[in-house]
Amino acid sequence: MRFSSDRLAVVEGDITLMAVEAIVNAANESLLGGGGVDGAIHRVAGAQLLEACRKIGGCPTGEARITPGFNLPAKWVIHTVGPVWRGGGAGEAQLLQSCYRNSMALAAENRIKSLAFPAISCGVYGYPVDQAAHIAVQTVRESLAAFPAIESVKLVCFGKIIFDAYQTAYSQ
Ligand code: ADP
Repeated sequence: MRFSSDRLAVVEGDITLMAVEAIVNAANESLLGGGGVDGAIHRVAGAQLLEACRKIGGCPTGEARITPGFNLPAKWVIHTVGPVWRGGGAGEAQLLQSCYRNSMALAAENRIKSLAFPAISCGVYGYPVDQAAHIAVQTVRESLAAFPAIESVKLVCFGKIIFDAYQTAYSQ
């Protein structure tokens, strides 16, 4: 199932299978791999991805870094570090917006025309899914306006709970 406008689509699926130019990874500050979507991306990309991430040497929360995709269908991986949910008073919303904005800016800088995001911070980092979905949709819409060369963004939802939240955010 999918909901889409011209340039923004909400889809349910596994981001490691997406044939887009870049997939975004919800990484941690070490960039040295983890569980969830990070683990799935590293498994498919292969050991070279970990090596490339090691050379970068980490990434602060809210920022983004780029590597090749190695064995993934996607040519590039944009690694961004979402905030850990601490109740909402620790700048989480601004940091999550920064993840989407900085990932879009890095895609535009690298002339990437199609990319896919997972639900950053919605797994072990514990961000309330409804709020995160709203931020994802709004921030990507703003960034699509700011970066007209980006042709397509997929918001990839792993499972129905996430998909339903994104569908609601998309319709608002
Ligand atoms: P975070 O630490 O930022 O919370 P997680 O990887 O724990 O990151 O979760 C982020 C989101 O990614 C969750 O909604 C999780 O269900 C989802 N996810 C896990 N595996 C995949 C995958 N293969 N493709 C897309 N999304 C995934």
